Amino acid sequence: MRYALENINLGSIMHFIEALKLKSKLFFLFILITVGLVAVGIMGAINVESMKKNHDSLYFGSLVPVTELNEILQIYHSGLASTLYKAKSSEISFSEVTIEVERSLKKINNLWNNYESHFKRDEELEYVEYVSIEIKAINSYFIRVLKATKDTADINKISIITLEKYISHIHSVLQKLINYEVNIATYERKRFTNEYKVSVNNMFVVLSLIIIAVLMISYSVFRSIQSDHTKLELITKKLKRLNKKLENVSYTDSLTSMHNRRYFNLVYSRELKRAKRTHSYITFMMLDIDFFKQYNDTYGHIEGDFALKSVSKVLKDTLQRPSDFVFRLGGEEFGVLLTQTDESDSAKLARSICDAVRDRQIKHEASKVNQYLTISIGIVCCVADDALNDEILLTRADEMLYEAKDTGRDRYIITSNVSEAQTQPIEDLTA
Ligand code: GH3
Ligand code: MG
Ligand code: MG
Repeated sequence: MRYALENINLGSIMHFIEALKLKSKLFFLFILITVGLVAVGIMGAINVESMKKNHDSLYFGSLVPVTELNEILQIYHSGLASTLYKAKSSEISFSEVTIEVERSLKKINNLWNNYESHFKRDEELEYVEYVSIEIKAINSYFIRVLKATKDTADINKISIITLEKYISHIHSVLQKLINYEVNIATYERKRFTNEYKVSVNNMFVVLSLIIIAVLMISYSVFRSIQSDHTKLELITKKLKRLNKKLENVSYTDSLTSMHNRRYFNLVYSRELKRAKRTHSYITFMMLDIDFFKQYNDTYGHIEGDFALKSVSKVLKDTLQRPSDFVFRLGGEEFGVLLTQTDESDSAKLARSICDAVRDRQIKHEASKVNQYLTISIGIVCCVADDALNDEILLTRADEMLYEAKDTGRDRYIITSNVSEAQTQPIEDLTA
């Protein structure tokens, strides 16, 4: 279940990243790095802080020896000296003195052994050894005092002056050690605090420098990728424009600047589909110049090309509606595709094309039908439906063109019969 959830989360994050645009992806990465660095910084700071706390406990731990020394001092004063004072003033019995002195000496030995077991610096070893000898000396003094008292059974023999001399001596010896331990602990803590401050400062400086460097590098990478992206976009746009241009060139006839057969195939299939869908009229005309071989033979190919351009101009001038399409299908053959035009209007247009070509009065002495250049047109016009065969319009228009040629040229022949079988044309008009 947990894994499934993790997978879903990871998957949705990946989807989210993939859906982002390049710019947003980079921005996302940039935010991620910054958050990561800040998180590392915070974690570092937390660790250093806990280190400091540990050291604080270490510092207070280093005061334990001081406590032990203070306790020893305390026992010398209140456990031993004060017991002897009380004994002298007969406040306590001899047996009580014995118990108290032995107990105090035992405690002092234990505390001192504990103290000695802690870590010691080289420079303090000598003094510690000296204190140890002094403690032994004063402890043996108390044992001697106890023994002498026991032997004489006279407590008043204890010399207060000697006692005070010993007590004040051990006091100053121990106090010196206590001061030394306190100073060491304070010094160590101060040293660590300074080191801690320096390392925290260093950490912040290094982290800030890293963050600034990462930000600067990310920014420059970001800028460079963005500029590459912009260049790429410009190149893509240019390429698209050039592609469009190339496409136009590939669809254009270089001599007449009319659309060529490639483009015709495209438009024909598109317009036929549309007409079938809307059950509307579609007209296809096949045009062919009469006796053009003879024209070329008589006037030469260059003149022939001029004649082709003239015919193409007539077609462009006559058919100007957006729904009229004219093509040079090859050689001296042209194609016209009309939509939303019934038979009568198609016939009128065909007639005006034939008239306009003839009226240009392009001399054609070798023609057997007219002294000027003429054309013949085969036309098929029908209301398209789903049953209409895609090739039939081309076949029928071709058949009508042959009819026009056979029946004298310089004319159009139109049919609306789009059945497979060859049928009689519905009109056979001489222009
Ligand atoms: P019809 O009346 O039966 O159509 O006779 P036609 O001579 O026009 O028919 P045919 O198809 O025999 O001849 C077509 C001629 O068109 C042949 C060729 O010399 C000429 N032609 C084809 N393309 C071009 C061209 O680009 N430029 C020139 N000048 N002539 C071309
Ligand atoms: Mg021909
Ligand atoms: Mg011809």
